[in-house]
Parts: sequence; C-alpha cells; structure tokens
Amino acid sequence: MKDLEPILLEKKINPTAMRLVVLDFLLKQSSAVSLTDMELALERTDRVTLYRSIKTFEDHGLVHRIEDGSGTAKFAICQPSCTTEGHHDLHIHFYCNNCQETYCLPQTQIPEVKLPEGYQGQQVSLVVKGICSECKNQCNTIAAH
Ligand SMILES: [Zn+2]
Ligand SMILES: [Zn+2]
Repeated sequence: MKDLEPILLEKKINPTAMRLVVLDFLLKQSSAVSLTDMELALERTDRVTLYRSIKTFEDHGLVHRIEDGSGTAKFAICQPSCTTEGHHDLHIHFYCNNCQETYCLPQTQIPEVKLPEGYQGQQVSLVVKGICSECKNQCNTIAAH
C-alpha cells in the first residue's frame, strides 16, 4: 500500500492507516460506492471514522459525491484535474437500471447550461439512466443462445 501514500500527499491529505485503506478500496471499484457499501466491505471500520475520511477526501478534491436519485449519496475517485481548490470533473454519471450501479463517465462532459438572467448556478449534475455496457453485453449473450 506504499504507493498509495503519494496520492494522498499530493492532495495534501495526511496518509493515516484508515485513509490508505479507504483509498485502496475506492481505487479498486469500477462503479461509485455508498458509505454503507464501504462499511460492509471494510472490516473494523466504524461509520463515523469512515465518513470523516470521505469528507476529507471530498474537501481535498480526491473523491466526488454523486446524487444518482437513489436517495443515497455515492462516492467515486476524481479525475486528476480536481484539486483542493475545487472539483473540475463535470462529467456525466450513468445509473444502470439493471445492476443498479452508478458509473462515472469522465469522457462525457456535462454540456454548458445557459441560465436565465438573475440565476447563479452553484453546482450541476447530470445522471443518465439506462443499461450499462456490461449488462447490455450479458443481454446479448443470453439472446444469442
Ligand atoms: Zn448494469
Ligand atoms: Zn464521477
């Protein structure tokens, strides 16, 4: 886990044992995870400590929070463009109705939204719902038999 330390240091996060464990877990995920997912996957962690670690990661531009409409906030590792000064990875998120996973689509940026005069946007998020590529492939495989 030694190679994970520079990632935290670069974001000016003190690499505690707990944070390294959380980072290690997040880097292995292909889709966004909720606090509950993390709590279940990481033994010997309590929700409060976990939440604090995630909050620190969020504040330092290492993870971003995703509201996918499921009512539970999910978290995923940010693109390198995010810094302690702010999040710059305005990409689309994709919620799969079949496997119920939420994916970051960093190649697909959120188009610029023109607001009427007098309105000042503070955050923008865009969630596309549908069937992810993995589920779609499975469908095709089943259909082919
Ligand atoms: Zn899926
Ligand atoms: Zn994302």
